[in-house]
Amino acid sequence: MDSSFDAKWHELAEEVMSGMKEWHLQHPKATLREMEGALDERLARMRARMLQDAALASAATDIQVAEEAERPVCPECGTRLESRGKQERDVTTLHNQVLRLERSYGVCPTCGAGFFPPG
Ligand SMILES: [Zn+2]
Repeated sequence: MDSSFDAKWHELAEEVMSGMKEWHLQHPKATLREMEGALDERLARMRARMLQDAALASAATDIQVAEEAERPVCPECGTRLESRGKQERDVTTLHNQVLRLERSYGVCPTCGAGFFPPG
C-alpha cells in the first residue's frame, strides 16, 4: 500500500470525527439510534473512499501490467484476455456509496466477449 494514503486517509478520519462532533452539537438530545445512524453515514463515506483508493492502487486489476500467465482468462472459453485499456466502472457498496473505479477492460480474442476482471 502506498504511503501517500497516510495523509489522505488521516484526513478522511478527521472528517468523520469533526463531522460527528458538529452533529452532536446540533443534536444534543439525539438518541443512541440517531447517533448510530449519523456515525454510520459518515463511516460509510470514509469506507467507500478508502475502498476506492485501495482498489485504484491495486495492480492486480490491471491487465496491462499483469504477466501473461497471470492475465485473467475468458470465463466462456478459457482464452487469455487481451487488454483494451481502462474504463471507468461504478460499483455500489454499503449504504449506497458509489465507488468510481478505473478498471482494465479485457476482450477475449476467441469469442469476442468483453470483461472487467474480477476483484
Ligand atoms: Zn472467450
